[in-house]
Amino acid sequence: MEEMQEKIRKVFAERFGGEGTLYASAGRINLIGEHTDYNGGFVFPGAIDKVIMAEIRSNGMQKCRVFSIDINQYVEFGLREEDAPKEGWARYIFGVCREVIKRGGTVEGFDAVFAGNVPLGAGLSSSAALESCFAFALNDMFNGNSIDKFELAKIGQGTEHNYCGVNCGIMDQFASVFGKKGNLIRLDCRSLEHEYFPFDPDGYKLVLIDSVVKHELKDSPYNRRRESCERVAKALGVETLRDADMKMLDAVKSEITAEDYFRAKYVIEEKDRVLAVCDALLKGDYKTVGEKMYETHRGLSKDYEVSCEELDFLNDIARENGVTGSRIMGGGFGGCTINLVPDEIHDRFIADAKKRFAEKYGHEPKVYDVIISDGARRISE
Ligand code: ADP
Ligand code: MG
Repeated sequence: MEEMQEKIRKVFAERFGGEGTLYASAGRINLIGEHTDYNGGFVFPGAIDKVIMAEIRSNGMQKCRVFSIDINQYVEFGLREEDAPKEGWARYIFGVCREVIKRGGTVEGFDAVFAGNVPLGAGLSSSAALESCFAFALNDMFNGNSIDKFELAKIGQGTEHNYCGVNCGIMDQFASVFGKKGNLIRLDCRSLEHEYFPFDPDGYKLVLIDSVVKHELKDSPYNRRRESCERVAKALGVETLRDADMKMLDAVKSEITAEDYFRAKYVIEEKDRVLAVCDALLKGDYKTVGEKMYETHRGLSKDYEVSCEELDFLNDIARENGVTGSRIMGGGFGGCTINLVPDEIHDRFIADAKKRFAEKYGHEPKVYDVIISDGARRISE
C-alpha cells in the first residue's frame, strides 16, 4: 500500500504537478452463497486487502486526463456520451462519470493517476474495485457525498452494463463499496437489505487458489440453470426459490425432472447454509463455517453441476491436507477455490496444491492470501 501510494504520488507530480487527493477501493471475495442472487437468496461477500488506488484532482476543464500506471497508458476524454474512450480500462472510469451524470450528479474535469494490485480476471473483481474507487471519489469531490452508498454500487453496476458489456449483478460493486475491515456483509438479494457479521479468523488464513482455467461453455449452462430454477419456482407457486423449502420441493418431486429437482435442492440448501454460516460466525465457530464451505462445493459439483475436474481436484487436495473449508468461488467451470486454512498447515498445503496441480495439468495455480478489509474510502486530504 505505502509503496503503491508513493509511486502514484510521484507519477502524479511528474505528470500534472503538485498533488491531488488519494482514494482507494478493494476487490472482494464471497465466503458462501453462490448462484443464489438470481434466486432471491443471500450472498456473503467482503472487501479484501487488494486495492485500486487513485490520486485525483479537479482540473477546471470539461476534460478528464487519466494515466494508468499498470497499463502504462494515458487517455483523455470529455464527459458527454459521445466522448467515450476506446481503451477498455478507461471505459470503466468514463462509465462511472456518465452514470453519475445520468443520476443528476455533478462531474467536472479531473486529472488522475491510478494503480492497483487486484489480480485482473481472477474472480476478485478488479473492475468493481476500479469503478467504486472512482464513484466514491466523484461523490466526495463534486457531490458533497450526497449520493448514497447503494447508489454508488449501482453506478458501478450500470458502468458494467452500459459501457463494458458485462451483464453482472450487484454483489461485486456492493461489496467493494460497503466493505469493512473484519466484517463480511450478508446481502439479501430479494430485499437488498444488508447486515455486517464479524469475520476475524484468528489462527486461519483465507486463501484463494486460482486454477487459471476457464472452460468453454457450450449452450449457455448458466441460462439453463436459471431456467431450471424458474421452472421449479413456478411448479411450487413461489416467485423465486428463496420462498421454497425442501418439504415443498419433495412434494412436487414427481412433477419435475430429476435434473430440475437437484438444481433446486442446491439453491434451497445454499440459502440455509449462508444463514448457518452467519450464526456460526457470531459464535466464532470457524469449524462449522468450513464444513458449510465443503457442503457448498459438493452441491455446486454434484447437484448444480457447475464444477470441473480442476476445481474438484483442488477441493480434494484441500480436504486431504486438513484444510478447514474449501469451495468453488464464483460461477464455476473454472476460476478459483476459496479456502479457510489453519495457519500451521498453510505453507504445506499451498506447496502440495501447486505441485500436484502442476503435475496433473501442466501449470501451477495462482495463490492469493487475502484479509477482509475496508472497501471504498478516501485516504488523504
Ligand atoms: P475482474 O474479474 O478482475 O473484474 P474484469 O475483466 O471484469 O475482471 O475486469 C478487468 C478489467 O478492469 C481490466 O481489463 C482493466 O480494463 C480494468 N482494470 C482492473 N484493474 C486495473 C488496473 N490495475 N489498471 C488498469 N485497469 C484495470
Ligand atoms: Mg469484473
